[in-house]
Amino acid sequence: MKFPDPSAKRAIPAVDAVLNELGDINLPRRVVVNVIRRELASIRRKQAVPGRELIMDQVRQRLSRLMQSRIQRVINGTGTVIHTNLGRAPLGPESVSALAEIGGRYSNLELNLESGKRGGRAVYLEHNLAVLCGSDSATVVNNCAAALVLIVKHYCTDDRPDVVISRGELIQIGGGFRIPEILEASGARLREVGTTNRTTVQDYVRAMGASTGLVLRVHRSNFFMEGFVEAPPIRELVTAARKKRIPVVEDLGSGALIHTDRALGIEHEPMPSESLQAGVDLVCFSGDKLMGGAQAGVIAGKGRVVSALKKHPLYRALRCDKLALASMQACVDAYLAGEEDTAVPVISMLSVPVDALQCRADAIREAAEKSTLDISVRSGTTRVGGGTLPRATMDSIVLELRSATRSAAELSVQLRTGSPPVVATISGNRVRIDLRTVLPAEDEALTAAILAVGQMC
Ligand SMILES: *Cc1c(COP(=O)(O)O)cnc(C)c1O
Repeated sequence: MKFPDPSAKRAIPAVDAVLNELGDINLPRRVVVNVIRRELASIRRKQAVPGRELIMDQVRQRLSRLMQSRIQRVINGTGTVIHTNLGRAPLGPESVSALAEIGGRYSNLELNLESGKRGGRAVYLEHNLAVLCGSDSATVVNNCAAALVLIVKHYCTDDRPDVVISRGELIQIGGGFRIPEILEASGARLREVGTTNRTTVQDYVRAMGASTGLVLRVHRSNFFMEGFVEAPPIRELVTAARKKRIPVVEDLGSGALIHTDRALGIEHEPMPSESLQAGVDLVCFSGDKLMGGAQAGVIAGKGRVVSALKKHPLYRALRCDKLALASMQACVDAYLAGEEDTAVPVISMLSVPVDALQCRADAIREAAEKSTLDISVRSGTTRVGGGTLPRATMDSIVLELRSATRSAAELSVQLRTGSPPVVATISGNRVRIDLRTVLPAEDEALTAAILAVGQMC
C-alpha cells in the first residue's frame, strides 16, 4: 500500500491563493470559498497531487458548472412547446406583470376589503375558473399530482379504500411520476380493471362495490394506442357509477381550454367542460401544460366536493402561493376575454401561421449572414409536448446550422452553454432550431447567439 507523499501535500495551494488567482467570479464569495475548500479537501485525500494548473482548472470547472445550474432563461429551439425540462409554459405579459405587482407589494391575499376581515385566498380566481370550466365550483393546488393526492385522500376512506382504474391508464408521466404509485402513496388501494388495450363498462361495473371510494379515469399522456383498443365513453361510465352512487373523477392531464381541433387544426384534446357535462364529479388538470399558465393543479366540479377538498387538512400543505394565484388569475381572465391566442404564449405559439415563422427565419438568416456557419431555412414539425396530444404535429420552420469544423454535437453544446443558452435538436450533421417555440421577442438574442457560436468555429 502506498501512502500519500507528505511533501506533495505541501504543494497544494492555500484557499486564499486559489481565490486570488481566480479573479472575478460572478458568484457570492462565500460560495466560491466553499467550492475551493471542498475541491482542495478532495485533492488532499488523493494519492497523487495534481499540478497547480490542473487544480485551478478543476476549481474553475466546478464553479462554472455551478453557475450554469442557476435557473436562467433559455431559448427553446426544440420544437416541443410544452417542455417540462424547460419550465413548461412561458407566462404571458399580463401574468408576468401580475407577478411583479403582487410579489413586490402587499396584497389582499386573505383579506376581504369590504369587511376588513379575513377573506378567502383565491375567491376571484376560483369563481372565474369555474366559469371557464363550466363547473359549479373550482379550486387550485400546487400541481396536478397534488390535486390527485387531495382527491384520493378525500374519497378513499378506511371502509372505502378502492380506486377503480383501467389497466390501460396505469401510466407513467415523465420524470418517474407514476399514477399507480401516487395513488397508493395517497393511501388508496388499486382495483385494476380490464386489460392494457381494452376495458369495458362491464369491467368497471364488476369492480365497483361497497369498498369503492372512486372511479378514476386518467387521460393517457405521452403515448397513444392504436388498433384493438377500447375504453367506454365517459358518459357511459358515469351512468354505471351513478347507479352504485360511486363518484367518477377524470384526471385530464393537460386540460384544453380551447377546442384544439377547431382553433389549432390538431386532434381534439378533451376539455374540462366536456367531462363535467358528461357528469363526472371532478376533473383535474395542470395549470402549466396546454392551459399555458403557472404551475398549478386545477380541480373543477361539484361545489359540495370542492368545498370538502378545501377543508381537508392536507389542502393547507398543497395550496398555491400568492404568485401562482396572481399569475393564474391573469391567465384565466385572458381566456374569459377570448384573448388567449395573443395573451397565452403556448396558445400563440401553437396558432401562429407557418408564413410568419418563415419571415422570421429569413430575417434571422439574413442578420446572421456574416456567420461562419452554414445556415439554411427548412420546414420542420413542432410537437405540443407535456404529454399532450402525443400524435399531433404541426408544420413549422427551422433554422438548420452546420459548421465546417465542428460536429453538430459540439455546436449544440456551444449553443447550450452560450448566453442566453439556446436548446436545439440534432439531425444528422446539422443542428436544428424550431422557430415555433422561439418567442418572437427572442429573435434578436437568437441571432446574436448564432453569431457568437459561429465565431468560435
Ligand atoms: C402531467 C400530468 C399529471 C401531473 O401534472 P403536474 O401538474 O405535473 O403535477 C398528472 N396526470 C396526467 C394525466 C398528466 O398528464
